[in-house]
Amino acid sequence: MHNKKSKIELKKNLEHEDFERLNLSFYKYCLIDNPKNLRNKLYFDLIKLEIIGRIYVSEEGINAQVCIPKHNLEVFKSYIHSIDFFSDIKFKHAIEEGTSFSKLKILVRNEIVAYKIPKDSYDMKKIGVHLKPIDFHRSIKEKDSVVVDMRNYYESEVGRFKNAIIPNAHFSKELLPKVAEILNGNEDKKVHLYCTGGIRCEKASSYLIKKGFKEVYQLEGGIIQYAHDMKKNDLESEFIGKNFVFDDRMGERVTSDIVGQCHQCKSPSDNHKNCKNQACHILFIQCNQCAKKYNDCCSEPCNQFLQLDLETQKKLRKDKNKKVTSAKLSSKFRPKLYKLFNYWE
Ligand SMILES: [Zn+2]
Ligand SMILES: [Zn+2]
Repeated sequence: MHNKKSKIELKKNLEHEDFERLNLSFYKYCLIDNPKNLRNKLYFDLIKLEIIGRIYVSEEGINAQVCIPKHNLEVFKSYIHSIDFFSDIKFKHAIEEGTSFSKLKILVRNEIVAYKIPKDSYDMKKIGVHLKPIDFHRSIKEKDSVVVDMRNYYESEVGRFKNAIIPNAHFSKELLPKVAEILNGNEDKKVHLYCTGGIRCEKASSYLIKKGFKEVYQLEGGIIQYAHDMKKNDLESEFIGKNFVFDDRMGERVTSDIVGQCHQCKSPSDNHKNCKNQACHILFIQCNQCAKKYNDCCSEPCNQFLQLDLETQKKLRKDKNKKVTSAKLSSKFRPKLYKLFNYWE
């Protein structure tokens, strides 16, 4: 069960819709006996509600980002709540709306958060204390508090909590051991974790507790909920810049601060994109000027490759001449990285 239309075709169809869509995300850790059955049921029912997005189901739970026709919002919410495991799921609305997906994808995975750590290094029955955004906002300013960004490098590159520890990890399996290493000796401090929507902190807090950290807190609802609540309460956000998102929008603006810089000319920019050369497709940050100069490519070789006729491009891709097809900016921004991580939130 899946959609066979091309992405361009699907996008065109979406443009002609005469109704509004809303972006929503949710997750739940719970034991699911038969993720495949659940996957098929969800696909069958959600396609009827014209829902698009990306959902992961695994034996440990569900992780979903969906784009819903506004008129189906309530039906959708009660449908999800009608499923046994999901009766208490909380939905998070996006900070900024916009077209996020072109079709519905529901995939069965081993884990809903791919930290790739051994099963005995955490215990999901012992997780960090959930703090409501407003309490988190106050708590991080208290003495002996540390704040840790539980996301990947490229996410914190465009937005982060002021004074947060950025683990600088490029691979999912590196992240948790690295955080434990950085925090080593601070087991008595109040450790505050945050991520996009909260899902990653559940497992991360469990891992740190098992490592001997005594006070571990997690931002309930993640950056998404935090941004909403700061606005609602008219408080100055401690999170600055953009919230990176794993869909076509690539980011939601939280504050006007430009935290990142263009990977090519180093001027301030927080505009993530994939290299226009499909053979490269690397994820990187590019300012508008460089976008013009390099034709939305990550480098001059990629730009030149793109100027070749399609037949030649095809041939070169087959030759696997990596020098031509994918000139990497630096090993840090390998396109594989993006694929590896995009089943987070
Ligand atoms: Zn630039
Ligand atoms: Zn490129």
